[in-house]
Amino acid sequence: MRDPNGVRPLVIGQLDRGGYVLASESCGLDIIGATYLRDVQPGEIVRIDAEGLHSKIWQEAKPKLCVFEMIYFARPDSRNDEESLYSYRIRIGQILAQESPADVDLIVGVPDSGIPAAIGFARTSGIPYAEGLIKNRYVGRTFIQPTQSMREAGIRMKLNPLKDVLDGKRVLIVDDSIVRGTTSRKLVKAIRDAGATEVHMRVSSPPVTHPCFYGIDTDTQDQLIAATKSVQEIGEQIGVDSLAYLSWKGMLDATNRNPDHFCSACFTGDYPIEVPEMLKRSKLMLEQTAKSQ
Ligand code: SF4
Repeated sequence: MRDPNGVRPLVIGQLDRGGYVLASESCGLDIIGATYLRDVQPGEIVRIDAEGLHSKIWQEAKPKLCVFEMIYFARPDSRNDEESLYSYRIRIGQILAQESPADVDLIVGVPDSGIPAAIGFARTSGIPYAEGLIKNRYVGRTFIQPTQSMREAGIRMKLNPLKDVLDGKRVLIVDDSIVRGTTSRKLVKAIRDAGATEVHMRVSSPPVTHPCFYGIDTDTQDQLIAATKSVQEIGEQIGVDSLAYLSWKGMLDATNRNPDHFCSACFTGDYPIEVPEMLKRSKLMLEQTAKSQ
């Protein structure tokens, strides 16, 4: 059963022997050798029995796929419509390079989800792409660790800068998002410690100014760095020589789909599905207006 707005993805596949499988992302089908059949439609209930697959729409509503699935949550080898998210992420990197170029020696992607956008940035800018950060594959996503101290410990264990690659270079790092700024500040320092003479940062999503109420455990709004600081202030806080974000238009143009089909509320505060007042009060800074970027 998929939610009526299709905020989260859900796909149906088929095994060679004829059985059906469902997965939240198409890469789950690839792993077991199943063939992708189609997405479960927003508001659709799928029932599988001995006679096969039965479908019913239980509630119709406007599709509002989470655009952050495209940028970060979903794996790059998952598909959205006819293309992989890897291709989408390459494209947002290309748009980012057009919107916010920089005079540097190297483009480095922050593993894993910043890498395709960094490759796209390098292709469009003509600046070499280099693997300057090595990821410890046994550490989970720092963003979803429950406490600040666990997040900070996670960052230290997670990414190791390659001195041979970065020493003496003007480096531009591409990351998928800045949520609290914790990861970015430590990362920038580590890259400088590895000998980079300049560290610039490009972010392949717009500033995250609002929390999510649709299934992603983001912090309260006052914990989101872009809710209270301008881009310049964020750049100063994380210690980069320059900082720029992908535009909201660029992010949606790159989907090659009707922008109205996406939820992008964490970048705009325009929540497409009504949020109960009590929940809003628990997470939003209702008295203050977030600074526009
Ligand atoms: S608020 Fe952000 S994270 Fe939540 S569903 Fe919308 S786009 Fe996705």
